[in-house]
Amino acid sequence: MSSRDSSIAKPQGCTLDETTRVEYLQAMGIQPWYSRHESDDLTETHAQVAEPVVAEVSESAEVLKIEPDLLPGKIDISTCDWPTLEQQVSHCQLCELHQTRTQTVFDVGNRNADLMLIGEAPGEEEDIKGDPFVGSAGHLLDAMMQAIGLDRQNVYITNVLKCHPPANRKPHTSEIVCCDPYLQQQIKLVQPKLILALGRVAAHHLLLTQDKLGSLRQKQYTYNGIPLYVSYHPAYLLRKPIEKRKSWQDLLEVRRFLNNN
Ligand code: SF4
Repeated sequence: MSSRDSSIAKPQGCTLDETTRVEYLQAMGIQPWYSRHESDDLTETHAQVAEPVVAEVSESAEVLKIEPDLLPGKIDISTCDWPTLEQQVSHCQLCELHQTRTQTVFDVGNRNADLMLIGEAPGEEEDIKGDPFVGSAGHLLDAMMQAIGLDRQNVYITNVLKCHPPANRKPHTSEIVCCDPYLQQQIKLVQPKLILALGRVAAHHLLLTQDKLGSLRQKQYTYNGIPLYVSYHPAYLLRKPIEKRKSWQDLLEVRRFLNNN
């Protein structure tokens, strides 16, 4: 590789050295592109990022109220602090998933983060270990974050569901409804600058839409006053590596937003 070829697009604010960053990109399965002309804007050349479109959506997803009587200890979830909320989730039996879980999977990362990542539900490994996004999908997510200069210490990560659906089946709507107050309270407590919905289940739930995920990307939404972007779930990217380049475009949009806000 020539010295000029090493001028790989690097998002503003990313503090990784080039060698490490390229390793992360390669871990994501992305081959960096190189500028043919010195005058090229490398970031744009690399990602071909579209300008964000502010989409018209409802101000927020409907806040789904579960009667406090149904909750463990009859506590109003919307008033919980972190320890109480986590404890409520750990004892929750609101939906049938409590019968098959090994343990609840609450969150990981920084509870004061600017960026909140919301995935679908714990997988088998998460169910055993108790942390969201472990295993190969977790490694890919880490690589994605590292590629834009972030890691688990400065983002907040959770899922729509806190319990593992057997055989990784799609969550039932009733389960999502039951679990939603916990997610609402997590968002309220974190107060992130930006939410990134990872995958169809999170995007559909938060935006109250059934639109295809591909059509939801590269637009900026607002969820209860908090800007929100949509991208692919890392597990999907493992099955469909061809979409990783689009995912990289989304990440650059996230990086750009965080740099400007
Ligand atoms: S998925 Fe959510 S609502 Fe269902 S049992 Fe687990 S914590 Fe409770």
